Amino acid sequence: MQKLYGLIGYPVEHSMSPIMHNACFREFGMMHVYHAFNVHPDHLEKAIVGMKALGVAGFNVTIPHKINCMKYLDKIDELAMKIGAVNTVVNENGKLIGYNTDGLGFVKALKDEACETLTNKKILIIGAGGAARGIYMTLADSGVERIDIANRTIHRADEIISDCSDSVQSTSLSLQQAECALKNYDIIINTTSIGMYPHINEMPISLDHLGEKKIVCDIIYNPLETKFLKEAKKRGALIQNGLGMFVYQGALAFEKWQGKFPNIDDMKQIVLDKLGGKTC
Ligand code: NAP
Repeated sequence: MQKLYGLIGYPVEHSMSPIMHNACFREFGMMHVYHAFNVHPDHLEKAIVGMKALGVAGFNVTIPHKINCMKYLDKIDELAMKIGAVNTVVNENGKLIGYNTDGLGFVKALKDEACETLTNKKILIIGAGGAARGIYMTLADSGVERIDIANRTIHRADEIISDCSDSVQSTSLSLQQAECALKNYDIIINTTSIGMYPHINEMPISLDHLGEKKIVCDIIYNPLETKFLKEAKKRGALIQNGLGMFVYQGALAFEKWQGKFPNIDDMKQIVLDKLGGKTC
């Protein structure tokens, strides 16, 4: 039977998710359809009730609805509750269950592309927004030694650290403190929006004090190589962009809906083709 899946966000016009998920359905010979719905925040409750009434089989949730959607769902899984946001909803026999695949998407991409084992790693997350929360809560449970968070607004970093029940060593830092302490970390992750198209000449922090043999990640994927990653590469770091995270969070959502894991390399290629000339 053909089923409907979707994405709710505001705006969603430029989302890569429809092209990626529709290709995954074709890969498995499924007739299902994935559609992006532009839902104004004032209509969020009606949209979710409507999804349920129409029997939509599952949907993704993106900015600005990841937190507010939670109150309209029937159940929230443990990790999504810990993160405090939902990006994937499964309709299980008329009950809407909320999950979060963003953090796990990042961690899977990191292990796949840059660092097979995270045991005893010292990590710096720059930024303390929604994406940082998901990444922090997932990394906190992965055997790392410490995760510090640097943010312009320090109290947001403190909130993430105090909301986490895992006993991982952590402290909050200002962006200036982080710049001076870079040599203390094995992995540095930019989760701020600084450097994203069209502001491609901006960096969240200076990398002047970056030590040797570091892994530097940026969860931005447009451009594929931000100025932050370019500077890190010049200093000999192994770099990782946000494409892997985006593709893995989608693959994990697909797996929740279908019980099958799609081909990651094919998904990356589809997004790369779609980004085409827009990347810098
Ligand atoms: P968010 O919740 O709005 O958080 C934004 C973060 O960036 C906050 O820490 C904010 O600091 C910081 N920031 C923004 N402008 C700044 C500035 N001018 N100076 C210093 N700090 C600034 O956003 P989000 O949902 O976490 O998303 C963040 C980025 O990740 C976006 O670029 C998004 O596209 C990307 N992302 C990628 C994926 C993927 O799959 N690859 C998934 C999710 C998000 P304050 O707290 O001080 O405001």
